[in-house]
Amino acid sequence: MEARSGTHPAVFLDRDGTIMHDVMYCSDPAKVRLFNDTRDALGRLKQAGFKVFVITNQSGIGRGYFTEADYRAVEQEVNSQIGTELIDATYFCADAPDAASARRKPAPGMVFEAQRDHDLDLSRSFFVGDKRIDAQCGRNAGVRTILVESGCETHADVDHGADWKARDLTAAAEIILRHAS
Ligand SMILES: [Mg+2]
Repeated sequence: MEARSGTHPAVFLDRDGTIMHDVMYCSDPAKVRLFNDTRDALGRLKQAGFKVFVITNQSGIGRGYFTEADYRAVEQEVNSQIGTELIDATYFCADAPDAASARRKPAPGMVFEAQRDHDLDLSRSFFVGDKRIDAQCGRNAGVRTILVESGCETHADVDHGADWKARDLTAAAEIILRHAS
């Protein structure tokens, strides 16, 4: 799966621990809590011309913890809290960790799908997430990577492999806007 060069720069965002509080295997729309700065940060990225995508592993489906319909209800709640004008699309992967998967992060499959579906220029794009697998996914897709410290794993994970580390999504957006071309 080769990534050809498209038109639009993009920001790919992990969901849990990056745009909303990580409650571990969220299957209940009532538990969706955005970070305070999520809408503002995404608005700044959209205003600067970036397309914005959510790229999320949802192994809770593959593990049988909840159904795809449960996941969809949570996705709909996230979209309604953020506002559909701030998110171009969401890609999720239901595969369990032990399944061979070209889509489950750190594999870059979901990023390449977004690239094809939305005519994206990966060389001008960024991946933001709170885990090492997010940085690896971005790197595997050939985009620049930022690790945010708003999730569960960040502090224990010194060797994160990201290009930058940011305390939250606002700080990540500032890095992106400084390096946008
Ligand atoms: Mg996360």
